[in-house]
Amino acid sequence: MIPFLTLARQVAGLRDELDRALDAVVDEQGFANGPAVGAFERELAGYLGVREVIAVNSGTSALHAALLCAGVGPGDEVITVAHTWISTVWAVSYVGARPVLVDVDPLTCGLDPRLVERAIGPRTRAILPVHLYGHPVDLDPVLALAARHGLPVIEDCAQSVGARYRGGQTGGFGRVNATSFYPGKNLGAFGEGGAVMTDDPALAARARRLRDHAQDGRHNHVEVGFNWRMDGLQGAVLSVKLRHLDRWNARRRAIAGRYLEGLAGTPGLELPRPQPWAEPIWHIFPVYHERRDALRAALEERGVQTGVHYPRPVHLQPAYAGLGLGPGALPVSERLARTEVSLPMFPELTDAEADAVVAAVRDACRGLAP
Ligand SMILES: *Cc1c(COP(=O)(O)O)cnc(C)c1O
Repeated sequence: MIPFLTLARQVAGLRDELDRALDAVVDEQGFANGPAVGAFERELAGYLGVREVIAVNSGTSALHAALLCAGVGPGDEVITVAHTWISTVWAVSYVGARPVLVDVDPLTCGLDPRLVERAIGPRTRAILPVHLYGHPVDLDPVLALAARHGLPVIEDCAQSVGARYRGGQTGGFGRVNATSFYPGKNLGAFGEGGAVMTDDPALAARARRLRDHAQDGRHNHVEVGFNWRMDGLQGAVLSVKLRHLDRWNARRRAIAGRYLEGLAGTPGLELPRPQPWAEPIWHIFPVYHERRDALRAALEERGVQTGVHYPRPVHLQPAYAGLGLGPGALPVSERLARTEVSLPMFPELTDAEADAVVAAVRDACRGLAP
């Protein structure tokens, strides 16, 4: 069986490095937001080319913090997408704002810049694009619109650490941005983790306070705060893994290249179309088929495990029924949700395995011709 994702191979290759880093945290007892977390923050800031990184306990918390720091609150509206992991939209709800969900661009699977302008209204306070699957959103038109309307852009980089847009790192374009280190992400911890990124020292200072009970000096709580601290052990793991990230992302691109070449022209199968201005990192390698569930079953029979990201868009989730967006409201998002299949994608996948995936998909699609 070729797994959709396994972390075992990666850990096996890093065992000694990881053991030493974890031992150091135990020895110095820096368990909650200790020195290892501070070191990781500086290393990630250097890697991304941003002034400040604030490590927190999940990507969901990072998005929540980013929205608070961007000044979004009750009665405000935030423009974002329905074709995402639901945390993107939770964060808008957490701060008491209303998510205004727009459709995605089928070429990037991210926010469609052409749909943003007409979604902007008097209550709009931020625009929140998601670099889904590790492919950047077309940011220039979004940033231009945001500047024209005086709105902050907040990037959700939970699937895009190391991906570049026109040469610049995602996570370095918005006023305040967020990412996740959930174990399955392309930079994954040994548990939960996330980070806020910004070039603005005042926003960074507020994010740092908020994550530790909004303390400004010990026992001086200046607003309602949170316990969003990152575990020291996660900081240590992430520092080790960051040193390998570029190599891993390059390997993901090589696998994606093999898939794109091997699967070209497969009847009934739609492939992702990486854009010339994008350097995606392929957190997910999505393909599309009208008979998605049958394709997944046929692949399972041929020894290939797959995933779906995501089968139901946010506007059709019971939690967001109150938005009043029924089926048909966001047609591209709904089509992606109905047809998407994620093929095995992780840096330790071998060329032989990737070729076996290609052969299985081609064979399965032949059997599914309409
Ligand atoms: C994973 C993910 C999140 C949430 O991150 P957690 O660390 O799981 O809280 C947010 N947005 C997107 C797009 C994600 O993929």
